[in-house]
Amino acid sequence: MAKKKERPIEELSIDPAAQQMLIRAQEIGISTAFSRADELTACNIGGAGMCCKMCGMGPCRLTKEGDRGICGATIDTIQARNLARAIAGGASAHSDHGRDMAFTLKAVATGEAPDYRIRDIVKLRHIASLYGIPTEDRTSEDIASDLADLYMAQFGQQRGSVILTKRAPKKRQELWHEKGVMPRGVDREVVDLLHRTHIGDDQDPHHILQGAVRTAIADGWGGSLIATDVSDILFGTPAPVMGASNLGVLSTDEVNVVVHGHEPTLSMMIVAASQDPEIIEYARSKGAKGVNISGICCTANEMLMRQGIPAAGELPATGACHPHRRGRSDGCGRAVHHAGPRRGCQPLPHRDCHDLAQGQDHRRDPYRVR
Ligand code: SF4
Repeated sequence: MAKKKERPIEELSIDPAAQQMLIRAQEIGISTAFSRADELTACNIGGAGMCCKMCGMGPCRLTKEGDRGICGATIDTIQARNLARAIAGGASAHSDHGRDMAFTLKAVATGEAPDYRIRDIVKLRHIASLYGIPTEDRTSEDIASDLADLYMAQFGQQRGSVILTKRAPKKRQELWHEKGVMPRGVDREVVDLLHRTHIGDDQDPHHILQGAVRTAIADGWGGSLIATDVSDILFGTPAPVMGASNLGVLSTDEVNVVVHGHEPTLSMMIVAASQDPEIIEYARSKGAKGVNISGICCTANEMLMRQGIPAAGELPATGACHPHRRGRSDGCGRAVHHAGPRRGCQPLPHRDCHDLAQGQDHRRDPYRVR
């Protein structure tokens, strides 16, 4: 594939720290998302969504209006299929975050996850009451158990509407019903969409896109919102917090751990572990001053807004802070052992407490380490 022209560094990022790291990466031969984007030229047909690989008779590459695939699919059908399958994949990845959060809530409620606890009791009771779950004279764990059961059941619901959609404005709910896009459950909608976009099934692009919209709504209201509710209940509802960002948050004299992913269940425990005296002492025994946590991507946002943990950036560049794997940039944000340069940003202290007025408590470190 032809190599595209290399872009000037200012076009890659407006952040001076990122620019310096990109220059350094070029110097020592570490590939990044930017250099790889410069090396690849996207396929015009694929970029326009006009290439179909749904069956073994293809791939069918359509180039002009009126073209049809071997099965008879038009450009509109193929484009709708491709978009719909991208939405099905995205909805699966996104909503599974909510599923795992519901599993965690259940484990907390039943005592199987003793290192977690319910922090926002007010939100738990409020959310439970929205669905008619009794809250009077009941423990938080009992309420949480019922809520977790209700949320877990939403994913595989076969008929009716995802119960969380009742929290949308009434007019919006009516519109979704009218347009036939009120979702049943995420799993149901994703399977339906994969089914209808397979060869020999739905050929009508409008109908395919209707299924895509229904799947997207299932993700937002039956996956994402579950994740938000449970994260707030377990880790505290966010309030405005000061934070630091960019690669300058890495420390030169501490063990740097950059957490990555989109589920906060593990990263919140890593934050807790980083404050464990035994771990700090171990880091010191190896010559570091302590453990410096930062985040990348979605988890960075979770930890920034709930704990004030700094965000190192958006796209991982493993080689930048993991010399043992120099030359490899596989997108993994694993724990790192050596520091990149700190460029004027000082990590702020971890968020000390939440505001009781928001239904949270004031204890410093709720995440007990085993
Ligand atoms: S589903 Fe149709 S358009 Fe797609 S690859 Fe098969 S024959 Fe070609």
